[in-house]
This record gives sequence, C-alpha cells and structure tokens, in this order.
Amino acid sequence: MTEHATAQRDDDADVIVVGAGPSGSSAAYYLAQAGLDVLLIEKSRFPRDKVCGDGLTPRAVKSLVAMGIDVSEEAGWLRNKGLRVIGGGMRLELDWPELSSYPGYGLVRTRASLDEQLARRAQSAGVKLLEGTTVTGPVLDDDGRIVGVQVQAEAEEKARSRTDNAERVRGTTNTFRARVVVAADGNSSRLSIAMGVRKRDDRPMGVAVRTYYTSPRHKDDYLESWLDLWDGDRLLPGYGWIFGMGDGTSNVGLGMLNTSAAFGNTDYKELLRRWLGSMPEEWGYTEENRTEPVRGAALPMGFNRTPHYHRGLLLAGDAAGMVNPFNGEGIAYAMESGEILALVVAQALARPTAAETERVLRGYPEVLQDTYGRYYTLGRMFVELIGRPKLMRYATARGMHHPQLMKFALKLLANLSDPRDGDASDRIISAMTRLAPASR
Ligand SMILES: Cc1cc2nc3c(=O)[nH]c(=O)nc-3n(C[C@H](O)[C@H](O)[C@H](O)COP(=O)(O)OP(=O)(O)OC[C@H]3O[C@@H](n4cnc5c(N)ncnc54)[C@H](O)[C@@H]3O)c2cc1C
Repeated sequence: MTEHATAQRDDDADVIVVGAGPSGSSAAYYLAQAGLDVLLIEKSRFPRDKVCGDGLTPRAVKSLVAMGIDVSEEAGWLRNKGLRVIGGGMRLELDWPELSSYPGYGLVRTRASLDEQLARRAQSAGVKLLEGTTVTGPVLDDDGRIVGVQVQAEAEEKARSRTDNAERVRGTTNTFRARVVVAADGNSSRLSIAMGVRKRDDRPMGVAVRTYYTSPRHKDDYLESWLDLWDGDRLLPGYGWIFGMGDGTSNVGLGMLNTSAAFGNTDYKELLRRWLGSMPEEWGYTEENRTEPVRGAALPMGFNRTPHYHRGLLLAGDAAGMVNPFNGEGIAYAMESGEILALVVAQALARPTAAETERVLRGYPEVLQDTYGRYYTLGRMFVELIGRPKLMRYATARGMHHPQLMKFALKLLANLSDPRDGDASDRIISAMTRLAPASR
C-alpha cells in the first residue's frame, strides 16, 4: 500500500489535504489564506451526500461565517432559535444562549449543499481541488515520514456518465508530493490507518441512522431532540432527532453510544420504524413519505483517534475523532480543527529548517488538547452516565421540570458559553472544564 520516496523531493504543493468534508475544506481554505499552495483531494464529486442530521448549532454557524459563507435566509438557509427537548413526558423549548462568542441562532442544510459550498469556498481562496480522486496510500521517505500520497482518479468517461450506483472503474493512478499531509478523510480515515494511527477503544463512539420524510413539520424553527424513544409503552434504547429541513422534508434519525448495553446488537432500522410508528400520523413520518434510504454511520467522539500528529501527517475532524461526546455534533469541531491545524502548519512551514518545522508540527496535538481536552474529558464522563438508562431516566424526569437547569445543560452540552464576561452559568462551565484533566 505504501510507496517509498527515493528521488529528490519535487513537491506538487506545500500541503495535501485528503478529504473535502467540513474539516478538509476549512483546513485547505485557511492554509490557502496563509499563502500556501494547497491540493485538496476528494474521492467523490460534488454535490455528494453524507450521512448526517444536517443540524448546525451556533458554534457551527460561527465557523461558517468565519469562512465567508453567506448564511442569510435569502441564500436559502433555514434558521432555528434553539433546541426543543422531548423527554420524561415533557417538552421544553430552549433558546440558544445569548453570548458574545457565538450567534444566537442555528441552521440546517443538507450536506450535499453545505459540503459543496465549503469546497467551492476553498477553491475560490486558491485551493486546487481534485474531485473523483481517491487517495489509496501514503508515499513515505526512508525514515517512514509521509511525503505525499498515491491516488487513483475516476476514469473521465465514467465520471461524466456516472449514476449513483455506478461502480467506480479503474482510472489513472498518480502520486502527489507535499511537505505536509492532512488526513481529513472522515471516521474510517484509511490514510491514518496506513500510517499506523488507529482508533482508541477507551474513547466514546456513537452509531446513528437517518433518513428523510416529506412532512408538514419541515419548517420547524427549533432543532428537536428526543431524550427517550417509545414504542407504545415500551422504552427503546437510544436518542432521536427530528430536524425540519425547510424544503418539504424532515431529517429524522436516532443513535446510540458504545456505553449503551444495546450498542452493537441493535437493528437500527427496525428501531427507527418502531419509534416513528408511535408518532402522530399527521406528522407524516411513514414509509410512503420516506424520500431516501435509511443510512447509518459512526460518530467518533472525544479524541477517538490519536496521536493527532504522526510523521508528517496531521489529523482533523472525524479522522481525529473530534465529535462532541455530549451532543453528537461534529461539523463545528471538524471546521474548527481545520482552522487550528492551518494556523499550526502555516507557522511550521515558515520555519527555516526541517527540525524547526517538525517542532512546530509536533505542537499540534497540544493545541487541540488545550482547546478541547478538558471538555472532552467531561464529555466522556457524561457518556458513561447516559449509558445507564435508569440514571438517565431519573435525571431526565427531574431535569425537565427545571427549565433553568435545562438551559445550563444546553450551554454545557452544546459547548456554548462565554469564556470571559459571561453569566454565572458560563463561569460554572468554565470552572468545571478547568478542573477536568485533559484527554490525552
Ligand atoms: C447519522 C449521523 C448524524 C449526524 N448529525 C450531525 C449533525 O446534525 N450535526 C453535526 O454537526 N454533526 C453531525 N454528525 C457528525 C458529522 O457528520 C461529522 O462529524 C462531520 O461530517 C465530520 O466532517 P469531516 O470533514 O471530518 O469528515 P467527513 O464529513 O466524513 O468528510 C470526509 C471526506 O473525505 C472523503 N474521503 C474519504 N476517504 C477518502 C480518500 N481515500 N480519498 C479522498 N477522499 C476521501 C469523503 O468522501 C468525504 O468527503 C452526524 C453523523 C452521523 C453519522
């Protein structure tokens, strides 16, 4: 799978970014903004789908705005005011907090549209984007350091006549070289694996399925989160969501964490069917109204893959296991890690010697730990707790009667607080986070 570089280095770019999801496109965008030559390699062609809830919290909105994406309603974005929480026989509408650090609204957008916008934004900043090109392995130097990637490009004729089910035919193979390579290739991150960086069993992992239904509820101005799922009077394992997409459909899904006893031995599609079977018929979540297949994927949480820097390779987003363990949100963390990574790499590549460059690159995991390590430690504790259904039922039943407490929970779970000059709840969150040990 790996090829050893023998010839004199003849780079095609300063940085190669593998994968044009939110982490790869934002990393590429910020690297290009810093004046670097960036090659962004994506195996699919835009617009392409990605299994997701399509929900964007204010944290993600902030990252989109920072990249210059027009998130106005005129540009087709559906805004939401907050989170509607359903659980313990109650429903609460909790508005996103008013903060100086984050906007007071969230968004929804299909991933086909969101990811294409981010990739095009990177292109407009000067990034060279190769679509329909799969990275098949690293190119290594004699010391085992990554100095490039091998790729296989989809055959041109096939790309033009492609249908969704079309098999990828063998196209041209090629090799690209760069001083630094970024693995932004998502949860399975084959590039990280090929470099010997694997998933960690001691970190949380979620699995979720989702699909779409035409529904009169499609213009919901709250993201809806279900803390308990019922099939008649039987409590089912897992947590669910219903996000109105504003386009005539709702994104409906459910998920489970690996701390749950049912994880790994559940038929998720059947679970979805049973949960939706108990919903009011007028909501429209029925088989006839389903517009897409039910598809599932993993959510790698709380630094599920480390080290984040290894022999010339930096990891971002899902490849780095960056999903928030508290709420399953990954897009904001993918984009933020892309930006952080770009800042580190820009500094590293400006150093005059290879040894100095290496020293700066080695600092990347520390920066990620300083930013998220303690919060993810709290998240891991939370994941342990919600793996205990009795305790969770008790907490939900109690908590839902205390809106102030739920507002605090929303801030903590969505990681939305002001680090300075915030209110009392911000200060409590800050103190809790400071006291937690960093996730190593
Ligand atoms: C069911 C479900 C629901 C979710 N709901 C939400 C939600 O509502 N909100 C939220 O914020 N997060 C949600 N998430 C998490 C979110 O989808 C991820 O955290 C996010 O997509 C991570 O972005 P990324 O760029 O790191 O990876 P990805 O989005 O997975 O992008 C990786 C990219 O790399 C490309 N790639 C992979 N291998 C190669 C290769 N060898 N060569 C070239 N390209 C390659 C892929 O085609 C892809 O474009 C959900 C996840 C799941 C599974």
